[in-house]
Amino acid sequence: MRILVTNDDGFHAAGLQALWQSLEGLGEVWVVAPDRERSGVSHSITLHSPLRIHRQGERAFTVDGTPADCVYLAANHVLREAPPDLVVSGINHGPNLADDITYSGTVAAALEATMLGIPAVAVSLCVRSRTADFSASARFTRSVVRGLERHRLPAGVLLNVNVPEASDGASYRITRQGRRSYGREVIANTDPRGRPYYWIGGDEQAHEDRPGSDANAVNDETIISVTPLHLDMTHDPTREAMLRWDLPGAVLRGSER
Ligand code: MN
Repeated sequence: MRILVTNDDGFHAAGLQALWQSLEGLGEVWVVAPDRERSGVSHSITLHSPLRIHRQGERAFTVDGTPADCVYLAANHVLREAPPDLVVSGINHGPNLADDITYSGTVAAALEATMLGIPAVAVSLCVRSRTADFSASARFTRSVVRGLERHRLPAGVLLNVNVPEASDGASYRITRQGRRSYGREVIANTDPRGRPYYWIGGDEQAHEDRPGSDANAVNDETIISVTPLHLDMTHDPTREAMLRWDLPGAVLRGSER
């Protein structure tokens, strides 16, 4: 099995190095990762400037682009002759729960792989402090990868794994995407030249209490959360309801199930 490792914290991040080591022996591991931290860039791709690839080792490369750029270049250029069988993105330093998923470069790398038809897993360690022990999350990731040797993900589906800081890496729960409570924090201040500036996206950690959600599992139960995510963002109940809206111009023939 050929495994591609990437992340959004950058090639030198401890979480990527721990993940890389933990997958040794499961197959041929390749690393194509951003050359610096790109957290929060979501699924952005670089269309208006060139990308550079630098070799860091026999099967390791950095790219001066986003996580999605890395997966795209890995699958369509670096490993073009023999594309990866699996992409593992992480291990992210910090949670990717609930609404985080839409901002996450870690999850976006896995999404990009899914779009390219490659099974993918995003892994995050839910820690806020600057230092983190990735060993339990790396162990768990290895067992997920082994599981994916026996179980196929359907087309268009990826796994989002979140490991609580206190987890021993053993027990997990299958969850659904939860919901953050809105913090809406804006810190306004004045810079040394007298101009106003703003910091957004504070450390709000509250979540809506949704039984079975990723956030409940990690924050309330201290258990690893594994959420299957779907690339198709269509909301079918609303789609079907809208077929009965009487807006002018609606072409219904061919739209019904
Ligand atoms: Mn990150």
